[in-house]
Amino acid sequence: MKIGCVREIKPQEFRVGMTPFAVHEAVAQGHAVMIEAGAGQGAGYADADYAAAGATVVAEAATVWAEAEMVVKVKEPQAEERAQLRRGQVLFTYLHLAPDPAQTADLVASGATCIAYETVTDRMGGLPLLAPMSEVAGRLAPQVGAWALQKANGGRGVLLGGVPGVLPARVLVIGGGVVGTQAARVAAGMGADVTVLDRALPRLRYLDDVFGRAFHTGYASAALTAELVATADLVIGAVLVPGAAAPKLVTRAMLSTMRPGAVLVDVAIDQGGCFETSHATTHQDPIYEVDGIVHYCVANMPGAVARTATQALGHATLPFLLALAGKGWRQACLDNAHLRAGLNVHAGRITCAPVAEALRLPY
Ligand code: NAD
Repeated sequence: MKIGCVREIKPQEFRVGMTPFAVHEAVAQGHAVMIEAGAGQGAGYADADYAAAGATVVAEAATVWAEAEMVVKVKEPQAEERAQLRRGQVLFTYLHLAPDPAQTADLVASGATCIAYETVTDRMGGLPLLAPMSEVAGRLAPQVGAWALQKANGGRGVLLGGVPGVLPARVLVIGGGVVGTQAARVAAGMGADVTVLDRALPRLRYLDDVFGRAFHTGYASAALTAELVATADLVIGAVLVPGAAAPKLVTRAMLSTMRPGAVLVDVAIDQGGCFETSHATTHQDPIYEVDGIVHYCVANMPGAVARTATQALGHATLPFLLALAGKGWRQACLDNAHLRAGLNVHAGRITCAPVAEALRLPY
């Protein structure tokens, strides 16, 4: 198959859909890969790296869109990219169609076959192409929290791990899923005193079994949440209620109970945020203060570590990419129900029930 990969054009997106490693694997299986010049630059991959892996580097994205049978990306196609999609072409990328009627209409009109990373499933009921980005954001959260706690950034001037003779910082992680687990691991690894709250008892049992005394677990009742928020140096919001906006678990009134200069990192900001006072921020201007509490609410945290994020995403997408290229999308989806769950749009029709329901469109 002729596989194509373009440079991401959405502002502040530095990831790329294929690493040179992925190109190498695809070429070894007999596929031709075409990559737009500069596509890997933001993630630290030069055109020469792709050429060495066996890709053809082309100057214009238009060449990729015109010639590739399958285009592999990271972000949803922007309007000018959607205009170049065509019937019979496969698009493999994050789409997030449910809140995006304009994109959905364009993809339906294109006639292309559009497979969304975020709805591909796995045997455990998880989302294997979302999990790597949650892992990245989770591990990044204590790192940015530690930075925000520094005096120069408005924080209370507390070192997460303390030092001999000085107690470590208290870190509260609300939500013990993929993000929360990775956040707790890293915060505990930095020496902080960490508590993870969740409402799912099986999840709390799992965390207790696997991590033992590395951090504490607690049931996320309103009372315990309020008590721990009041004494935390750093609170990391990592809840997810599938298909719904994040619940507001830290209210504005609770900020006045907190230690001045404490930090809130709201990883769930892409679902509206789980703190009442959260609003989305950018990597250029990541923090702001409300009632003396520092907020970090960057909606695309993995973008800060574009190279790691590209590699993590690339490893997760590669088996699906190779199946799509090797068998063709139809056979690959027939053979694998989890990949089939990623099929969102095909030949002018929406093929994913939740997307159709969210947009009140025929399915
Ligand atoms: P997940 O489903 O693995 O975990 C979510 C956890 O929240 C679950 O264990 C669930 O039981 C728990 N939960 C739900 N309601 C709760 C409540 N009221 N109190 C306590 N716990 C509750 O999800 P995830 O992959 O860890 O993602 C968490 C959030 O992070 C999502 O909103 C996701 O979109 C977001 N995210 C953001 C970024 C970013 O760059 N900002 C990157 C990746 C993920």
